[in-house]
Amino acid sequence: MKTDYDVIIIGGGPAGLTAGMYLARAKMNTLILNQGAVGGQTVLTHEIANYPGVENINGFQLARIMKTQAKNFGCTIKSNIKISNLQLEGNIKKVEINNKNSYSAKAVILATGGRSRALGVPGENDFKGQGISYCATCDGDFFQDKEIIVVGGGNSAL
Ligand SMILES: Cc1cc2nc3c(=O)[nH]c(=O)nc-3n(C[C@H](O)[C@H](O)[C@H](O)COP(=O)(O)OP(=O)(O)OC[C@H]3O[C@@H](n4cnc5c(N)ncnc54)[C@H](O)[C@@H]3O)c2cc1C
Repeated sequence: MKTDYDVIIIGGGPAGLTAGMYLARAKMNTLILNQGAVGGQTVLTHEIANYPGVENINGFQLARIMKTQAKNFGCTIKSNIKISNLQLEGNIKKVEINNKNSYSAKAVILATGGRSRALGVPGENDFKGQGISYCATCDGDFFQDKEIIVVGGGNSAL
């Protein structure tokens, strides 16, 4: 099993996969370690309409294409892992997963993304991505001329 890489990326969402594609194309041995399903938040997205060059696509499908691209460029991807230890000091960094396997690299990129703050109201989980949206700039357009409720009072809400 290969354990030493040029770069280890923690997080396999769009940011981590994009970094992986560029690194692998630059002939860097690259390992992407992802906690859940590869694709990050896009996997939860019903429809993405603002990705340049793609008119409308289901988030899961887009994530699958990104994953395939990263693999085709030569990235190794491990999903459903848990980082159990991280040592970032010194020239060689060490990442341990699942309290078991240890990997080393000259650089580690953290691309662990973000998480929306849920309200915790009944039905919220069931309708996520199907009427309930957490990204005003991404999804606002889908709700034009519809009756909506906006929760929040910051710039995006306005
Ligand atoms: C419902 C919904 C709809 C959206 N619609 C759109 C849209 O239409 N258009 C648009 O442009 N954007 C949209 N977004 C936002 C878009 O999905 C995010 O901006 C984008 O996914 C961010 O990418 P990322 O790689 O930075 O982070 P994320 O997608 O959050 O990916 C981070 C990854 O890191 C992993 N991770 C986190 N912690 C660890 C750890 N400790 N160890 C290992 N792995 C870890 C996670 O499992 C995840 O896979 C939407 C988001 C949601 C939730």
